[in-house]
Amino acid sequence: MNKYLPLGKLSFGLGDRFGQQGRAQLRACQLATELGAHFVPVWNKSNREHTFIGTEPASLRAEADAAVKALGWKQAYHVDADHIRLETVDRFIAPSDFFTIDVADSIGKPASAADVKSFVERHPELAGTVSIPHIEQPFAITRAEVERVANKFLLATQDAGKIYQHIVKAKGAANFITEVSMDETDSPQTPPELLIILAAIADQKIPIQTIAPKFTGRFNKGVDYVGDLKQFEKEFNDDLAVIAFAIKKYGLPPSLKLSVHSGSDKFSIYEPMRRALKKFDAGVHIKTAGTTWLEELIGLAEAGGDGLEIAKEIYAYAMDHVDEFCAPYASVIDIDKKQLPSAVVVNGWKSKQFTDALRHDQKNPAYNPSFRQLLHVSFKVAAKKGERYLNALKKHEAIVAKNVTENLFERHMKPLLLGK
Ligand SMILES: [Zn+2]
Repeated sequence: MNKYLPLGKLSFGLGDRFGQQGRAQLRACQLATELGAHFVPVWNKSNREHTFIGTEPASLRAEADAAVKALGWKQAYHVDADHIRLETVDRFIAPSDFFTIDVADSIGKPASAADVKSFVERHPELAGTVSIPHIEQPFAITRAEVERVANKFLLATQDAGKIYQHIVKAKGAANFITEVSMDETDSPQTPPELLIILAAIADQKIPIQTIAPKFTGRFNKGVDYVGDLKQFEKEFNDDLAVIAFAIKKYGLPPSLKLSVHSGSDKFSIYEPMRRALKKFDAGVHIKTAGTTWLEELIGLAEAGGDGLEIAKEIYAYAMDHVDEFCAPYASVIDIDKKQLPSAVVVNGWKSKQFTDALRHDQKNPAYNPSFRQLLHVSFKVAAKKGERYLNALKKHEAIVAKNVTENLFERHMKPLLLGK
């Protein structure tokens, strides 16, 4: 296996659309460390996001370095080139040390027949009865099934290999962490599929440290998990068992772990995840992004005056463009339009009404998940406001930062670490 930059056991992906909250985010990691949970901060931003906001990947590195310096953070931290492909990776290579290779587009496209055949022949251990510690029912995988899975995923792993080698050439294998993501696809990967995928990734000599499968259930943007929690828990446990098995069987890095591309705020899966991680003594990477942008809006609304004003303007604009904004996110939002208050109504709101509707507190009867999801996908409105939005963030920095830190620490890190 190739060399690699090792990633710590618990890591937390932090997205920061406008690049202003690095310190407030890192503060949450400091608070978690004080409780004994060493979350390695990983700042992530996808190519798509850079394009929407008009930023360069180097800006994320600058933000991370500045936050680390300002807070005196002595431990590891990373900068993730999130969801990159061969055509988009180049501008990320110098500033990033974590690469999320997105091969979802290649899933379902068959590799060459000869490659599929040789994969199946090279891996007789995958066919038949495969007993994996901590999975009650051994996998019964026929040779035809191995072939089917190879036809679906082998090309994706070959693509991952090409992108990985491209980064190695430019950067040196020991200088980065590799994640492979398969979450942005139609159907979840089952644990037996995950095993076959990991065998194929090992064949590509990719020292993969995080893998992001698509899990069962809906991972809507910025709101809680929707799906069968029991099924999720079983799948998550079985995935952990498969990973532990594959590390030994295929010589993958011992630090290999699941990466949960959460779409932010999947609070109800944190408890089953915590139980499973404890059982397997496993690590995890949780990727979040938009949750911090929503905390910016909450902070601005809470500040009142011109802060509340700009939050209302963003909502009014979003309401005017609701179909246009929602269309690209159709598979990851569930907005009930009847629950969206009109811009006229919102314009009459006080700070507390706005923050109660937006803040992700499911115990608050005024919390409105449709309102929250619409604002989640409307960050381009703030981007269009440019300096005016950034100046509002600077002016109300203290109250915004408090919301950003509290959200990550109280609602994400503490439940994952302590179960509360
Ligand atoms: Zn993702």
